[in-house]
Amino acid sequence: MMRDARPEASHFVDGRFLEDREGEAIPVLYPATGEEIARVHAATPAVIEAALASAERAQADWAARTGAERGRVLRRAAELIRERNRELSEIETLDTGKPLSETLVADALSAADALEWFGGIAAAIRGEHVPLSGGAFAYTRREPLGVCVGIGAWNYPTQIAAWKAAPALACGNAMVFKPSETTPLGALRLAAILAEAGLPPGVFNVVQGAGAVGAALVADPRVAKISVTGSVPTGRRIYEAAAAGLKPVTLELGGKSPLLVFEDADLDSAVSGAILGNFYSTGQICSNGTRVFVQESVREAFLERLSARLGGVRMGDPLDEATNLGPLATERQREIVEGYVRKGLEEGARLVAGGRRPDRPGFWYEPTVFADVTDSMTIAREEIFGPVMAVLDFRTEEEAVARANATPFGLSAGVFTRDIARAHRVAAAFRAGTCWINTYNVTPVEVPFGGIRASGIGRENGWAAVEHYTQVKTVHVGAGVVEAPF
Ligand code: NDP
Repeated sequence: MMRDARPEASHFVDGRFLEDREGEAIPVLYPATGEEIARVHAATPAVIEAALASAERAQADWAARTGAERGRVLRRAAELIRERNRELSEIETLDTGKPLSETLVADALSAADALEWFGGIAAAIRGEHVPLSGGAFAYTRREPLGVCVGIGAWNYPTQIAAWKAAPALACGNAMVFKPSETTPLGALRLAAILAEAGLPPGVFNVVQGAGAVGAALVADPRVAKISVTGSVPTGRRIYEAAAAGLKPVTLELGGKSPLLVFEDADLDSAVSGAILGNFYSTGQICSNGTRVFVQESVREAFLERLSARLGGVRMGDPLDEATNLGPLATERQREIVEGYVRKGLEEGARLVAGGRRPDRPGFWYEPTVFADVTDSMTIAREEIFGPVMAVLDFRTEEEAVARANATPFGLSAGVFTRDIARAHRVAAAFRAGTCWINTYNVTPVEVPFGGIRASGIGRENGWAAVEHYTQVKTVHVGAGVVEAPF
């Protein structure tokens, strides 16, 4: 039986669920069937004001606690998430359409990892002592920024909320989080669990709404920092708005990442990497390796093995754990994917698998592979954000690296080869923020993740995230008589 996904109310503000039906209704559709499973309301100006005011009120006390105290709350929340992983995963599946076989391992648990890791390091966040001449010294204080705003995309609603909340809160900030209007449910659960774990009211708030609500939060003078996961155009708009207030931003945006497969690679692992990097979450992952460059000598073998593996695709009920591929998140996203597949065919790419919508309700689309793709084709240049793999041929390493880097994006890149020197040489040459050698799309919380160029600014996860949620204050201490010219 399908779980009731309806939240207690639309927003979570000042430690409580909050409703305001004056806000525009936002239906939540189950992408596997298209049916409405819940309904929330966009935040009205009153709700936005309540969230920001409570965050501002709560932040100073939260920051005054020791890191150890803050960390304990986050780690308790991580435990609660692990205990309730199945319930949270089912809600994530209903919210996004991603199969339970994925959400059980990749969503709520990833949120728990983030809360546990940042909870663990919270007590270790500190400044440094710098000895100076004559016994003088300086020290630095790593201070929170204040009220931060998090804005999420719809592909990993729970993970995105936690990847922003965990470091922000560990560092002593408060946060107002706005999920994507497409997937409003996961962040509300996270907020309720944080409150249950002992987070003081106001430290983490969730408000619903579309871009206008996000824009109102970004522009508010009480907000010290913005972290957004979304598309490049949205990132640019938010960066512009943040610039007016000289506010720092973290932008996790889109990509068109390359995956290089050399002839000496373990071909089965390379095929697995390409499957994970194109079809996991039905291709709706920003770091996907959607340009798969395969060395000419192994191109046919690669395509054969890939085709054989596609026989293992199970597009069933996402709540059935045997299902390993879900629908797209929205009808709009499916139309975008279909548009790109049409372009691929028009521009002369060879369709070797998929390319159709199955005849059933919901937003399903077959996993699709194009071969003979060239660099100038639209499907090799633009982010599709769906289950469409483009396979391109190459001859030499130099050529492959140059073509891999010929993109305005720079989120991630991967290489499969057994040649250890080449693996590191290629990783060093990639223009990307996150690279993988003989693996793809692993994003553990311990290591920084993020992009360069059009793919974004700043890093999430690892110690790098602490840099983005704190500011350094320098304190000079004199040790002698102060002399002056007169
Ligand atoms: P969008 O850019 O459409 O939206 C991102 C978020 O920003 C949403 O919550 C959206 O609200 C909000 N928003 C829109 N306009 C504004 C504005 N002017 N001011 C403030 N907030 C605004 O992205 P999608 O949700 O469609 O997500 C897909 C994109 O996200 C892809 O391009 C993908 O590459 C990228 N992505 C990047 C990741 C990374 O880590 N680098 C990870 C996952 C996705 P609403 O949608 O509710 O209107």
